[in-house]
Amino acid sequence: MDKKLLDILACPVCKGPLVYHKEAGELICKADRLAYPIRDDIPVMLEEEARVLAVEEEV
Ligand SMILES: [Zn+2]
Repeated sequence: MDKKLLDILACPVCKGPLVYHKEAGELICKADRLAYPIRDDIPVMLEEEARVLAVEEEV
């Protein structure tokens, strides 16, 4: 994914920064413990599409 794109993306819930997880193909918001999917290189920045991280998952 484009690094510049990552720089301008923010969590739609808390407007905080996101961490790109390359292996999972997800963008993680640590504050909300939400993982936003990336589909066809396009981040899906929708709260209803995000996955809630499990307690044991490292963020
Ligand atoms: Zn957030």
